[in-house]
Amino acid sequence: VKYVQCACMTAAESLTTRLPKAGETIIGHKFFVGFGGKGANQCVQSARLGAKTSLICKVGSDSFGNDYVDNLKKNGISTAFVGQTTDAATGTASIIVNSEGQNVIVIVPGANLLLNFEDLKRASDVICKAKVVVCQLEITPAVSLEALKMARASGVKTLFNPAPALADLDPQFYTYSDIFCCNETEAEILTGIPVGNLEDAEKLVIVTLGAEGCMMISGDEPIPKHVPAGKVRAVDTTGAGDSFVGALAFYLAYYPTLSMEEMIRKSNCVASVSVQALGTQSSYPYRKDLPQDLF
Ligand code: ADP
Repeated sequence: VKYVQCACMTAAESLTTRLPKAGETIIGHKFFVGFGGKGANQCVQSARLGAKTSLICKVGSDSFGNDYVDNLKKNGISTAFVGQTTDAATGTASIIVNSEGQNVIVIVPGANLLLNFEDLKRASDVICKAKVVVCQLEITPAVSLEALKMARASGVKTLFNPAPALADLDPQFYTYSDIFCCNETEAEILTGIPVGNLEDAEKLVIVTLGAEGCMMISGDEPIPKHVPAGKVRAVDTTGAGDSFVGALAFYLAYYPTLSMEEMIRKSNCVASVSVQALGTQSSYPYRKDLPQDLF
């Protein structure tokens, strides 16, 4: 069982020729609603590769929340620990995109911030018997950290994606992550983190570099290693990082004997397929559509 701990968001996107000014109403030409949240995206990618996944999260008892649960089920993800609450609305991202691709985004975390220690306790069986636990920062950071600690205490491998980046990230996040995977922007914001205990050979830091693939920094190798991504024609890179993290979690859980470099190379392949189609979850490939040598 692989388990992903997460955030759920309904993303509503409006396409316009230009962004409105304060107080202005403008007419757009397209509107669509999709499913997002980093943890949920990662879980969807893992599930589409064939992983058995469970999501621990909270959504509202509203129509967005109901649709969200349906979407998870459609992707074969266990929703046993997806809570629904009347105390807050499902998390949302309201996005306006102009014809140059620039955007303005308002995120309202809503129910995501109500996921608490009690919820983790109820899910402790799933957390402690998983092969891999994946956490991000779109829920209350202390709750994410607690999930990593619970996993670690049971010898479960932990993959932490410090996104969205926090400048004053608690250094314990580093201590309790076997693999710390961030993108370039996050790495820049986080460089205040003490990474002095890299001598722990199990510890691995991965920085994703978009079209360039990844850099892996391992405790037992003095020189960081570049793992390039294949050359592809990218049409939309939104959510590429989540596709990568979801794929990596899949390989950690199901192909634990592969070298880390090989897992990263394969995860690059999966994520580079996702950038060749539009959207976030809609661009994530299924196992059947990928080259079979990835499995
Ligand atoms: P984020 O979405 O978090 O900013 P990145 O942009 O670093 O993450 O992308 C994550 C991964 O997606 C990369 O490590 C790579 O595997 C793949 N990827 C992203 N952009 C491209 C691209 N233009 N061509 C090929 N692969 C890409």
